Order: sequence, then structure tokens, then C-alpha cells
Amino acid sequence: MLNKRADLHIHSFFSDGTFSPEKITKLAAQKGLSAIAITDHDCIDAIGPSLEIANKRGPLEVVPGVELSCEIDGCEVHMLGYFIDYKDNNLIKALKSLVDMRNSRMFKMLKNLTGLGMDLSIDDVKKIKSEGTYGRLHLAALLLNKGYVRSIQEAFDKFLGFGKPCYVSGDRISPTEAIAMIINAGGAAVLGHPYSVNKDEYIPGFVKAGLAGIEAYHTDHPEPVVNRYKKIAEQFGLIITGGSDCHGAGKGRALIGNITVPYEVVEELRCRKVR
Ligand code: AMP
Ligand code: ZN
Ligand code: FE
Ligand code: FE
Repeated sequence: MLNKRADLHIHSFFSDGTFSPEKITKLAAQKGLSAIAITDHDCIDAIGPSLEIANKRGPLEVVPGVELSCEIDGCEVHMLGYFIDYKDNNLIKALKSLVDMRNSRMFKMLKNLTGLGMDLSIDDVKKIKSEGTYGRLHLAALLLNKGYVRSIQEAFDKFLGFGKPCYVSGDRISPTEAIAMIINAGGAAVLGHPYSVNKDEYIPGFVKAGLAGIEAYHTDHPEPVVNRYKKIAEQFGLIITGGSDCHGAGKGRALIGNITVPYEVVEELRCRKVR
């Protein structure tokens, strides 16, 4: 029971991570974690297989999760959902429309890139990605493979990052809609890596909409930032969560288990579960 830890932010190859549920659960067990959450972008396909593996193998606990891409006033916000009912029909339907949006956005981004003279096609994307949801990290990998950039980061800095020439926002839902979607699916909504938005003035509105927690601990949060969000969490009575945001080898080295929170956080999130 002593010092049980959880990494509550991990991507699988169903979104833009490179690891299978099998590999993630194996690595998590090797790192001595007690619980993990797989939180794919707008996608819950990894949950069933991960739960099955965890049930068979134990004692690792898998928390059903998701990371919804949202937009408010042109800013990109990521809303995490924990303990969602991944078999909920309304959730499945809503995610399907987000995936459709992602697919049409992929074509628009490809058009922007080919407009700059690059030789790229949807078949190239499909070669590196066959299951689940497409995202910018796949395009960044493609640009790297084809020699148009020297690193994944350069692809974002020059072309794909927010406001860069080939950026396409797509029709994203609002954070308030994302919170409602998570609550309606029985889960707890947590504001993901709030420092990437760096606009704390939005937080009271999210709390009003039913936000349950805030991801204070994250790979991209230096210590003063962690402390800032812990303070905000205390102020609004939010659960303090955290995770590595591991993308497998998708962003360089695997981060799984590098950022963890005490297992009690899993219990706190479970208490917010609606069904
Ligand atoms: P998408 O789901 O297509 O919006 O892409 C999201 C992915 O792109 C996530 O893995 C983000 O961490 C990554 N990403 C977004 N903006 C940047 C950036 N400026 N630099 C590096 N990665 C980024
Ligand atoms: Zn990602
Ligand atoms: Fe995110
Ligand atoms: Fe993430």
C-alpha cells in the first residue's frame, strides 16, 4: 500500500502515441506504477484492450480516460476525462463526429503543406497510421521522414503549431461542451496541462461548468508552475492530478512513469464518477 503511484496521462498508438496497450501496461508494471490512465486524443479505442490486459495480468489498474481537444477564443485547451463510461452510446457518437472533423482537418493541413510545394498525400499519412485518430504529430513525423524538417519540434515551429502557416483549427468543441460530454459519460473532467494555454482567467468558468480537477503535474510544468496550479486547485476545491503525457517514441524518448501522483488521486477521481 505504501507509496502507490499513478501516471494519469498516456497516449497509445490509437491516437498519436507509438505504444500499443500491451506495451504501455507492460512498461507501467515494470516502472512499479499502481495505476495508469490512457488518455488518447478524442479516442477511446485503447480502453477496452487495456482493461482486458490489466484484468488478466494485474495488479496494475487502468483508469478509462480521454483527452478532448477544445477551443476557446482561438486558444487550444485540452480537457481530460477520467472514469468515463467508454461504452456510452452518446459518448461514442460524439467522439465519432470529432474524428470526422479530424479527418477533414487532415486533408486541409495536407493541402496547406502541398501548397508550399511539399510532396505529400493522404496515403503517406495512412502508411504511418492505420488505426484510431489522426493528428498533427503524424504529419510532423511525415515531414521528418521526408526530410522537410530536421525534428518534430521544427515541424510544429515552422508549419503545424498554433497560428503557423499550415495550422488548421478544425471545428473544435468548447471546453464547457467537453466538460458536459465527460460528465454525461459519467466521468470526471480535468483541465489538462493548463500552462500550455497560460490563461488562468478561464478557470472559474470551467469550474462553474463542473470541472473536477486540474493537471498541475505535467512534463512541461516547471516547479513554480506546478505550485501555481496547486494553489488554484486549493482555491477552487479541485483535485490535483498529473501525468507524463507520454507519446511513446512519438516525441523522442518515452516518458511513461516520469510524472506521477499518489494513488489517492485515483480514488478522488473515482469518487467524482457519476455512475
Ligand atoms: P492535434 O491532436 O492534431 O491537435 O495535435 C496534438 C499533438 O500535437 C499533441 O501531441 C501536442 O502535444 C502536439 N503539439 C501541439 N502543438 C505543439 C507544439 N507547438 N510543439 C510540439 N508539439 C505540439
Ligand atoms: Zn498527443
Ligand atoms: Fe494535451
Ligand atoms: Fe496528451
